[in-house]
Amino acid sequence: MKAVVWHGVGDIRLDDVPDPTIQDPTDAIVEITASAICGTDLHFVRGTMAGMVEGTILGHEALGVVREVGPGVRNLRTGDRVVVPSTVACGTCSYCRAGYYAQCDNANPNGPAAGTCFFGGPQTTGPVDGLQAQYARIPFANVGPVWLPEEVGDDAAIMLSDIYPTAWFGARLAEVGDGDTVLVLGAGPVGQFAVTSAFQQGAGRVLVVDGIPSRLDQARSRGAEAIDFNAEDPVAVVQELTGGIGVDRVIDAVGVDAQRPKSGPAAEAAQEQADQFEQERSQVAPEQDPHGHTWVPGDAPSQSLQWAVQAVAKAGSIGIIGVYPPQMTSFPTGAAMNKNLTVKMGNCNHRRYIPHLLELVRTGAIDPSTVLTQVDDMPSVLEAYETFDQRQTGWTKVALDPSP
Ligand SMILES: [Zn+2]
Repeated sequence: MKAVVWHGVGDIRLDDVPDPTIQDPTDAIVEITASAICGTDLHFVRGTMAGMVEGTILGHEALGVVREVGPGVRNLRTGDRVVVPSTVACGTCSYCRAGYYAQCDNANPNGPAAGTCFFGGPQTTGPVDGLQAQYARIPFANVGPVWLPEEVGDDAAIMLSDIYPTAWFGARLAEVGDGDTVLVLGAGPVGQFAVTSAFQQGAGRVLVVDGIPSRLDQARSRGAEAIDFNAEDPVAVVQELTGGIGVDRVIDAVGVDAQRPKSGPAAEAAQEQADQFEQERSQVAPEQDPHGHTWVPGDAPSQSLQWAVQAVAKAGSIGIIGVYPPQMTSFPTGAAMNKNLTVKMGNCNHRRYIPHLLELVRTGAIDPSTVLTQVDDMPSVLEAYETFDQRQTGWTKVALDPSP
């Protein structure tokens, strides 16, 4: 079969690989009918998330048709159309049963302490071969995949695999409630759904910060108040829009790849701070700890986390769903502590939210396919990666059609 395979930083290829087979009784083989490229995939391609194993199939967002099930799978039949949650979870350990599917004790082959297991990720997350392929082996298929009713189309269903649940989870982490004023940092695909999720969870106003006008336009069409960080200082604008108080809740939907403002009043301060961190870092030589890890002091806290702490009101709360690597050690703790902030974060417990969100989609409460801007077939996948990586105008979310 054809699959998108990681060979190295900046080197992904469309390869011919062996078809997957059932290995455990709770496995299923799913023929992928649609998969998508996510910002997280770009982290692996750029190298901002380390530890990928050569030969790993990429992709953690997909839906498809069940072609084969192991003897332990009682909920699915051959021919069923399902959406596959990005994270793998056993459904029976204490974490899964408490809803923390992303911290399952059994799914990650590296052991219970290894944390989240997901498709197409680095060594520490499995690795489990991903979903940008014609077929995929789905571990714990007795729990993970969710059956799709016919009236939910592929374009909508693909959003239920990762980005809508992640955004919804972000609004839950941020403790969004009735009447709240919410700030969403980042207007990429997850940011778009975070705007909608915040409104669905009761927000009165949603402000959104990004540097790409087409993404801000899209957020505006969802009812958000748009702030362009390349034209204005986002923290000053938030203060102005909230009577000097700040927002009640912040959802960080950006993560480690936050881009600094290139122009406008916020650009100079961001550049100064980056230079200062670079200078501090250069004065201290990297050290090796006893375990052989290289320790570099002075990691700059991400731009989005700084804005989050500055823009939120006293006693407000922040939900972090943007992806940060385990090596990231910086956070503006002092500023947050002195404002009595609540900060929650994590990988989405997809399986916990998908059934509810599927129902919202099925009843027409939201049409998630409005975020999908590009549909490509697999042969042009490498090109699609490149264009998506460059954040070209109009490219918000890319879906792949794996049919040959
Ligand atoms: Zn579990």
